[in-house]
Amino acid sequence: MNEQFAAMQDVYATAGIRVDWSTTENLSLSTLEDVDVGGCTMGSVTAEQITLFGNRNFVGTNDLVVYYVRSTVPGYNGCAAHPSGRPGCVVVRTASRWTLGHEFGHVLGIHHVNNNNRLMTGNGTFNITNPPPDLVSTEVTTLLNSGLSRPI
Ligand SMILES: [Zn+2]
Repeated sequence: MNEQFAAMQDVYATAGIRVDWSTTENLSLSTLEDVDVGGCTMGSVTAEQITLFGNRNFVGTNDLVVYYVRSTVPGYNGCAAHPSGRPGCVVVRTASRWTLGHEFGHVLGIHHVNNNNRLMTGNGTFNITNPPPDLVSTEVTTLLNSGLSRPI
């Protein structure tokens, strides 16, 4: 998790975006260790996602939360679909180092591309070549304009 966070900081720094880690909470939610994410479609979440994303202790309204889990059902590296007003994502602990930045990218409004040099590759972040992966200028603009990011 620390490695994923450091990797996200590295990639976002190339876009002039600083990422701060504000708080950590260890949750004991055994039935959500393998969390049902359905089709993992933005704007559509399962009952298990609603329950999981209800956990936002010590987190501001616009803060992004990552829930580390053993697996998603069906199996993905992560999933950025989240309940309205609870920005965040699920990431599998064994996912690639780039998964956290990729999923938070989705939360901030950027989408898949078919290019394994880029963070938002839709081909799986384990397949990223030439690390650190790129954020292109149009993606940076979207990240900066997201209501969830703010000027330093
Ligand atoms: Zn994705």
